[in-house]
Amino acid sequence: MNDQSALVLFSGGQDSTVCLAWALENYAHVETLGFDYGQRHRAELAARPVLLAAIRAQYPAWAARLGDDHLIPLSAPAAIGGSALTESMVIAMGQDGLPNTFVPGRNLMFLTAAAALGYRRGIADLVGGMCETDFSGYPDCRHDTIQATANALTLGLAREVRIHTPLMWLDKAATWTLAEKLGGAVLVDLIRAQTVTCYEASPARHDWGQGCGECPACKLRASGYAQYMSAPKHSSEA
Ligand code: ZN
Repeated sequence: MNDQSALVLFSGGQDSTVCLAWALENYAHVETLGFDYGQRHRAELAARPVLLAAIRAQYPAWAARLGDDHLIPLSAPAAIGGSALTESMVIAMGQDGLPNTFVPGRNLMFLTAAAALGYRRGIADLVGGMCETDFSGYPDCRHDTIQATANALTLGLAREVRIHTPLMWLDKAATWTLAEKLGGAVLVDLIRAQTVTCYEASPARHDWGQGCGECPACKLRASGYAQYMSAPKHSSEA
């Protein structure tokens, strides 16, 4: 652990919850940031305080490092429109070769707002769950995009901005394994019970968590969990 502070982009989903655990393990002081960007389903935002409270209750060492939670409104994506995440439309492939769950520039806006908040809070280290392995082709999840953004923000703020993406090269099974390594079976169970990744925000329960079971996010989560559970040994079997 180093003595620095980190700001985690914390949406209330599976990936950002693992990133939060990673930051709590690696930094002396950790703050969290969520965005209200007009997402059609509010379940993810509602999960955030529940997850934060559970982490404080279950992990005393992490609770001592966990600082303020910030929620910033960002209305541009919904105002621009055209995404299944901000409008009611059937999830499908678009003419650009990307699923219509893509919100153009979303991560760039999020990282810019996070760096600006970090500037005010004296925090240079941002942590995000972007991942190139299962990324549906979203170009703003790529390692090169993220590091170029860190360079642009460092120049634009005239202060160093570092962006850490602990999940960048992990598949969903490896993300569950990382959750277990960081927080044991308690964290795996917390993620299963409380995080929301389903595009339809279905409350249906499965062994891998809640969701419709049919949308791309559910399929990815379910197959990753099945692969994780079929691995030789892990503590959450007990
Ligand atoms: Zn779903």
